[in-house]
Amino acid sequence: MYKKKLIVANWKMNPQTLSEARRILMILEHRAPLMNKSEAVICPPALYLPAFSHYVHSVKLGAQNMHWEEAGAFTGESSPTMLKPFNVNFAILGHSERRLGLGETDQMVNVKVRSALRHKIIPIVCLGAVAKAKKTDMKKIVAKQFRATMKGIEKNELHKIVFVYEPTWAISTSLHSKPADGEHARELIMYIHKFAGPNCRVLYGGTVNKHNAREYAQYSEIDGALVGAASLDPNNFWEIIKEFERESIHRG
Ligand code: PEP
Repeated sequence: MYKKKLIVANWKMNPQTLSEARRILMILEHRAPLMNKSEAVICPPALYLPAFSHYVHSVKLGAQNMHWEEAGAFTGESSPTMLKPFNVNFAILGHSERRLGLGETDQMVNVKVRSALRHKIIPIVCLGAVAKAKKTDMKKIVAKQFRATMKGIEKNELHKIVFVYEPTWAISTSLHSKPADGEHARELIMYIHKFAGPNCRVLYGGTVNKHNAREYAQYSEIDGALVGAASLDPNNFWEIIKEFERESIHRG
């Protein structure tokens, strides 16, 4: 099955103003029609989504989080039915900063994924977040998180989910961070495919930037990237997209 590469920008709690956010978005929006083999998803802070929904045509929009209920007493949360009218087609779920910093559990991620599927929002599920995890433990961690977050989800639904192999130690802002090498990322992505099947997309996340994007793009098994810090610089982010495009075109 042919799968377009997916390059996802996780802006986290940045940039500081809507006008700067709009400037970055418009640069990417202007270039995005040049993409043939890949798709770009921008996940800005939730407060920018209503404005962004008017500007996007070629890039897709994602939320950085989503509550599983449609409404109710959930202070500070956004529901799937609130996000949908703003052209939000994706939601990052189970990011390590929510798991490790805000106490989000596998069980919470599981109900969020099920809710996203019900509301036709594509879940981007992060696997690999554990404090002080060792590289040699990553398969065990990923297998455990996959089982817990996919509980109750039918096998024939798995192709609707995007997974990200994102070890905490590779995220640029974590202490002593070090990006995974391409071979390790490829191995873990193939491992996730064993559980998730061949048809879903599995991305790599952790300090991807224009200088190292080829390290990941060179492997056909790596279906794209989740990009944090580098995605706030539209030129840097665009170079990453170009790298995945180039490799895909090269492979034909
Ligand atoms: C992230 O936190 O999702 C991420 C990929 O960050 P960075 O690219 O900055 O490591």
